[in-house]
Parts: sequence; structure tokens; C-alpha cells
Amino acid sequence: MRGAELDRTPILVFWETTKACPLACRHCRATAMSEPQPGQLSTAEGRGLIDEICRFGPHPPVLVLTGGDPLCRPDIFDLAGYAHERGVPVALAPSVTPNLNKTNIEALKGAGVKSVSISLDGAFARSHEDIRGVPGHFDETLDALRRLVAEGFKVQVNTTVMRSNVEELADVAHLVSDVGAHIWEVFFLIKVGRGSEIEDLTPVENEQVCHFLYDASRYGFVVRTVEAPFFRRVARWRAEIGPDTDAREAFSLGPLYGRLKERSIDLMGPPTRPAACRSAGTRDGRGIVFVSHSGIVHPAGFLPAALGSVRLRGLVDIYRNHPLLRAIRRADFGGRCGVCSFKDICGGSRSRAFASSGDPLGEDPGCSFDPMTAEVGSRG
Ligand code: SF4
Repeated sequence: MRGAELDRTPILVFWETTKACPLACRHCRATAMSEPQPGQLSTAEGRGLIDEICRFGPHPPVLVLTGGDPLCRPDIFDLAGYAHERGVPVALAPSVTPNLNKTNIEALKGAGVKSVSISLDGAFARSHEDIRGVPGHFDETLDALRRLVAEGFKVQVNTTVMRSNVEELADVAHLVSDVGAHIWEVFFLIKVGRGSEIEDLTPVENEQVCHFLYDASRYGFVVRTVEAPFFRRVARWRAEIGPDTDAREAFSLGPLYGRLKERSIDLMGPPTRPAACRSAGTRDGRGIVFVSHSGIVHPAGFLPAALGSVRLRGLVDIYRNHPLLRAIRRADFGGRCGVCSFKDICGGSRSRAFASSGDPLGEDPGCSFDPMTAEVGSRG
């Protein structure tokens, strides 16, 4: 989708259908709770939101039903089915709990859900369960992924990269391949919600992880990043030097990249396929918009700037006309992102800019590129 189209229609609308979730993960953006919160959009209001999404035009965005755990909402199948009937593609991001059982998986298929994303935050039980806080959850997650692949869903694995699991990323990539998932979406930590307490990576480490992810996308699944749009700069550079040039030498990458690359070759052999990491130039508020459990619109789930309520104003109007979203789409940024030649395809994480400085149009401190010197790597 081109920039002018992204000005009018997002690619993804995330709806936090509920904050209720049986889990209490250490990095939870939503700070999910065991019970639904007062003010949650009702079934009728949810249907109204779906009607509004249809007003984006003949090719409406994908509606991502997230939470909390969307399976905690008894009306989730009704809402997914209604969206499907109205021609809105539906994806679901459930938690792995007893709710993700055979009956509910069948009901999701019946409601027309085609894509499901599941979180896997470590390659081993101890690391994944340290985040999730539930013994046995690692094996249950791998089981769920295999079942969903076997049922014919397009399956996405979501992994949040943190200091505690970064050395396991090659092993996670191997699991993504092993369970037959189609997409690996890697979230770069934003310090909001419970994630505020977790240690993130330095910009130099982020750069090395992006180079590793480019290599990982050559093993048969698509790789995407969340809150690391500078991955697109890396992907462009890697495409320019060609797949078989040693990135370690070409970009003077540090030892983290070397360890991840060597481990992935040990596990999966040398990568042989073309890189599968192309994506539209989206960023928080450009191609992406988030509706909270109570109907408040935000540029993204990790960016708590409130743009209005769908109870008072249509989502189409908010998305197309809110001054902050228009500024984000104009790439009207400060700091390094404002003068960067990659600001159109990247533009930096608006969520990280906000979390670090309070300015959603500030520079992304997670990026190690200095547009003034065209050099990478002196930061962190
Ligand atoms: S400086 Fe900003 S726009 Fe440029 S690559 Fe880094 S994050 Fe992207």
C-alpha cells in the first residue's frame, strides 16, 4: 500500500477487546487483569466499531482482536463472525490457556478467523515460563502452535526480545520453523505497562538483532518487527550488498550477531531462500491504529497518547484527521529521525520516542544510526 493510501486507510486495526486474561505476563503492555474492566465496549458497540471499519472503503483493514485474552469475551465468536460477514478480515491474538481448546478453535474457524498469533518468549521452558509465570506453559504453547497450523490457520509467533532472551533468538527461530509457523513477529521492548520493569537492549544490540532477523527470514517464514521500523533500513542495506556477502564484515557487526548467526546455522544449516521480510512502510499511526477496551483510540498499543473515543467520534475520522496522526504520516519528526533519509520507510518507533521523552514525534532512541555521519554503532 502506498503512502497516500495509508493516509486514508490503515492496514491493521487492533482492538483490545478486553483487559481480562488468566495470565499475568511480566512484559504485558495491557497490564491485563483477571476480570473485564468497567467501561469495556459492549457487543453492540463492538459491532458498531466493525461497521465503522467497513467505512474505510472497499478494502477494509484487517481487524486484529487482541486483549488481554479475547477468548475471555463470550461474544468473541459473534463479533468475529459479524466482521467476517461484513468483509473485514479477522485475526486473533489469544493467550495460551485452557480457553484455547478444540471447541473454541472450531468456533474460530466457523466464525471465519483465518490468522492467529501466539506468543513464545523463549526457546526453553525456563525462559518462556519465567515471563509467563505458569509451569508447563512452554509445552502448551508449542502444542497450541502445532494444532493451529494443522487446523489450517495462518499462524504467527510473537516474541518480545529482551536482555533475558536475546541469546536464545536463534533457538526461537528454529522452533518457529519446527512448528511450521508462517510468520515470526519480533517485538522490540517498549517500557510501558508491566514491560517498564524489563531490561531492553542497547541500540547497538538492536542493530545486530535486526541483521540476524534478516538472515532468519531466509529459513522459510516471514519475519516482521514491531517497534523496530529501523529493521527496514537494515533489510534495504542487506539487499543492496546481496544475500551471500558476510554482514559481519560489511557492517562491522559485534559478537552478538556472530553468536546468533552461528547458532542458527548449527540448528538449521546455512540460509538458502530469498529474504522474506518486505513490509509496507507502516509505523504507529501510519497503517496501524489501536482501539482500547473502552474505545479510546491510540496510534498503537504501546503509545498511550489518546486521540478520542469511538463512542464519540468515528474511527475513520480520527484516523484520517487527528493532527498527531497527520504529523506522524508527514514524518514531521524531531532529532535524528527528522533528518534521516530513511524516515519514509522507517520513521522510528513513535512509541519508544514517547516512552523515552514524552514526545511522540521525537527521535527513536533505540536506533543506532546517525544520519549526520551516516554511521551506525556509536550509541550504546
Ligand atoms: S534515525 Fe530514525 S528514521 Fe532513521 S533509521 Fe533510525 S529510527 Fe529510522
